[in-house]
Amino acid sequence: MEVFVAENAGFCFGVKRAVKMAFDAAEQYKEDVHSLGPLIHNPQVVERLSQKGVKKVEALDQIEKGVVILRSHGVSSPRVILDAEAQGLHVIDATCPFVTNAQKYAKQLVDEGYQVVMVGDRNHPETKSVIGHSGSEILVTEDFEEIKQALKKYPKKRIGIISQTTQTFGRFSEIVVKCLEICEEVKVFNTICYATEDRQTEVQQMAEDVEAMVVVGGKNSANTTHLADICREKGIPTYHIETSREVEDGWFPGMRKVGVAAGASTPDWIIEEVVDRLRKI
Ligand code: SF4
Repeated sequence: MEVFVAENAGFCFGVKRAVKMAFDAAEQYKEDVHSLGPLIHNPQVVERLSQKGVKKVEALDQIEKGVVILRSHGVSSPRVILDAEAQGLHVIDATCPFVTNAQKYAKQLVDEGYQVVMVGDRNHPETKSVIGHSGSEILVTEDFEEIKQALKKYPKKRIGIISQTTQTFGRFSEIVVKCLEICEEVKVFNTICYATEDRQTEVQQMAEDVEAMVVVGGKNSANTTHLADICREKGIPTYHIETSREVEDGWFPGMRKVGVAAGASTPDWIIEEVVDRLRKI
């Protein structure tokens, strides 16, 4: 059985940066290093960090002293950083620069008097962090009808549009075009990070060339789950696993080609273990 591994499998730029910052902090400060929430959506990486001394906490009041690392999706408000500093903590901000960019443009649009629309999922930590940093009410939605309804309350019909970093360009541009039809003025910042879309496109193509797909990543990772969904939509057997221990010999009866993809928060060491395991079948 041949095993093909996606080129874009594993850590994206922002996750790689955050994980490196956390391991460096553990090395430098030895103890009293904390991450506010799980640093990334991968339980194995969070566990490895905890073995190195990086403790996961849910709130600042669980930290007495030392270092706090802010995760790649960003924190819910700039207030969190001010509170951490007021508490005497050393803050390491591992927010992905693409997310920081979205926060900055949201704030700019609010300051310029636009009603801001973010095309995305309002329950995702990233969109919550952008709302928190904008200092105002932002409409987060992927549904144009919702935007239309909301605009009834804004007589000027000047809207500023940004995107959740993981949004697809197709969905984003569709909403922008529809808004142009009903607004007097539309100002747009493209805040998409193409790491996600590139990964999805590659997996879509790969799923057409193999007989089964193994998608590796946290069960709590939205981008990994989405990759598995893309493969299932192609109608081939798809297994979403977190580690090589879950692979079963009987999954690939008579198959000659199997593909491996991984989410943006899956480390190389886990992907390599899965590939080794598959090659032994
Ligand atoms: S997917 Fe893009 S925006 Fe999200 S953490 Fe990775 S590099 Fe940053």
